[in-house]
Amino acid sequence: MLKLSNLSVNYGVVRALNDVSFEVPEGHITALLGSNGAGKTSLLRAVSGLVPYLGSITFDGTEASKLGPEHLARAGVLQVPEGRRIVADLTVVENLKLGLTALGGRVSKVDIDGVFEIFPALAGMKEREGWMLSGGEQQMLAIGRALVTAPRLLLLDEPSLGLAPVIIKAVYEALATVLKGTTVLLVEQSTANALSLCNEAVVLAQGNVSAKGAPSIFTRDFLAKAYLGG
Ligand code: ATP
Repeated sequence: MLKLSNLSVNYGVVRALNDVSFEVPEGHITALLGSNGAGKTSLLRAVSGLVPYLGSITFDGTEASKLGPEHLARAGVLQVPEGRRIVADLTVVENLKLGLTALGGRVSKVDIDGVFEIFPALAGMKEREGWMLSGGEQQMLAIGRALVTAPRLLLLDEPSLGLAPVIIKAVYEALATVLKGTTVLLVEQSTANALSLCNEAVVLAQGNVSAKGAPSIFTRDFLAKAYLGG
């Protein structure tokens, strides 16, 4: 479904990604790990069509740069960015309705009531405006809004960022159920949670792939070496 071949991203003289190749098969969750500045966000931006790249990114066989960000979004490539970005002045329900406007003819397994079943904490705050929500509630809402749009490829950027451990646990428990069968590229700093959820993990170090494989190969020592560049 998603295939990256020799992907490089440059910002002027800074090379953020260098010849990165891997695939995310249909229905699989691939975790993208690595320390600060390793290139994870740059990779997500390239996949969403937000930065120019060298090499190839294909989505169902079509080059992403030919589609452009709008077509990619319409085709169901959906990014939940770091920092959540829900609409602060809209209520919880209004934010979810906004997700429905991005459905583009696809049929979602999760409707607005479904989001409240997945995240019961949001059910009691349907009319509350976004700015009043805690970090964890905003994260649940951002994920819920993504789910109602029936993403074909979900790009999740650090869902655990800034959340208390107990909330991270709740978010990951919900993700484990709700993401079954969805194709996901999951960027995480919280490696244990990401490894518990994914089918395959890829580690970036200074813009290069330093390790990739099934989560079972990522012992503590192996992971530490991969973070340092393999
Ligand atoms: P983090 O986990 O801290 O968000 P990351 O793995 O997502 O890091 P990127 O944000 O992709 O890493 O950054 C990769 C490299 O590219 C870093 O060296 C960063 O400083 C650099 N970089 C990112 N964005 C820009 C930019 N707009 N201009 C110049 N350099 C950039």
